[in-house]
Amino acid sequence: MSIPDISRANSAELYEKAKTYFPGGVNSPVRAFKSVYGTPLFIEKGNGSHIWDADGNEFIDFCCSWGPLILGHANPNILEKVTEVMQKGMSFGAPTALENELAELILNNNRFIEKIRFTSSGTEAVMSAIRLARGYTKRDKILKFEGCYHGHSDSLLVKAGSGLVTFGETSSAGVPNAFANETIVVALDDTKALEGAFAEFKGEIAAVIIEPIPANNGLLLQSQEYLQYLRDICTQNGTMLIFDEVISGFRVGFEGAAGVYGIQPDIITYGKIIGGGLPVGAYGASAEVMDHISPVGSVYQAGTLSGNPVAMAAGIAQLSQLLKPGFYQELNDKTATFVNDILDFVNGKGYPVKLFNIGSIFWFAFTDQESISTAEQIDPNSMVKFKEMHRELLNRGVYMGPSGYEVGFISSAHTTADLETTKTAIFDSLDIVFK
Ligand SMILES: *Cc1c(COP(=O)(O)O)cnc(C)c1O
Repeated sequence: MSIPDISRANSAELYEKAKTYFPGGVNSPVRAFKSVYGTPLFIEKGNGSHIWDADGNEFIDFCCSWGPLILGHANPNILEKVTEVMQKGMSFGAPTALENELAELILNNNRFIEKIRFTSSGTEAVMSAIRLARGYTKRDKILKFEGCYHGHSDSLLVKAGSGLVTFGETSSAGVPNAFANETIVVALDDTKALEGAFAEFKGEIAAVIIEPIPANNGLLLQSQEYLQYLRDICTQNGTMLIFDEVISGFRVGFEGAAGVYGIQPDIITYGKIIGGGLPVGAYGASAEVMDHISPVGSVYQAGTLSGNPVAMAAGIAQLSQLLKPGFYQELNDKTATFVNDILDFVNGKGYPVKLFNIGSIFWFAFTDQESISTAEQIDPNSMVKFKEMHRELLNRGVYMGPSGYEVGFISSAHTTADLETTKTAIFDSLDIVFK
């Protein structure tokens, strides 16, 4: 049964005002609700798995700030730690013990990196990792994959051009072609394309960067064999393999995708969860590689607010909770049950819907295909269905990220009752989408 749209009067008013201040009324484009119905919701507060908008509507939140909030909103331990640290001053631009504490927490529980550097965003972490790889290998070219997002730095705002093995084309105005010419873009899950690129640019590729769990353009799960192949071809060519784990790090397990697949990359980038909801990014590698970074090495990278004490405190409070025995098992099991129940429903009804998932990440694909591992396999026309579902879900108190290309996240704060309510909302919404 269709139900009336929720009121968005206050959000709409705030949005009109925001449009006079910010381009498109937002400080990050996807927030503008361009791919779904209605004005963006302005959020007033969050608690656990729930958020409330400016009109007093309450939602169960599956966006979770795009991933950072693996413990839900306003986690009491994080609040306590942040409040305590904040009292002593917000920033010094000098080292603090908190940086050591967060680094220890990570390095003592991660077999894949020996040293780390904190930044203030995922974009910065990736940009710095690329510079490190170029500085280390003394090569300029990098290779990325169509369908992977690595933040908004120039070298990475590049998409595949025409032809099998090509230089990329810029995917944003303002990125010089000269930058795009240093970035090779190939399809995911295609060993031939990789071989071709390494043959064509022999001895020139500094780094291959991949989201080992591509989760920014749907959820394009890659096989273990493919990722291992990637590792091997990089090793053979003296090319560094960068795992961009800004989403997958601390999400699919404390050691991220490297841990899940058991593959040792040369550099790993982190973001999102690592800051407990505050702006933190990081990149890590072996001590030998990391010592190419300034001030010991010749690769320059810095940040006025890098390692900010308040942000470190949030990271410490969040990550220490993730280390509790059974944390990931419980979260991942909860997600698997949720996903399987929805799959049973759509299969029973014969709806052309798939849910792909790993750990506590899930993605709705409006498709008949059994699996989707490349960007090209996603049918843009299917997004109409997501758009309809998104509206029905909002009307039923369920908030998903406002684009069908975005994945959903489940946090430890999502209760069984939340997930039951959500399933009912999803079933009712899909019945309307496919009526
Ligand atoms: C979110 C994300 C980034 C960018 O991080 P920001 O903090 O938004 O700059 C980079 N890489 C991946 C894989 C991401 O998911």
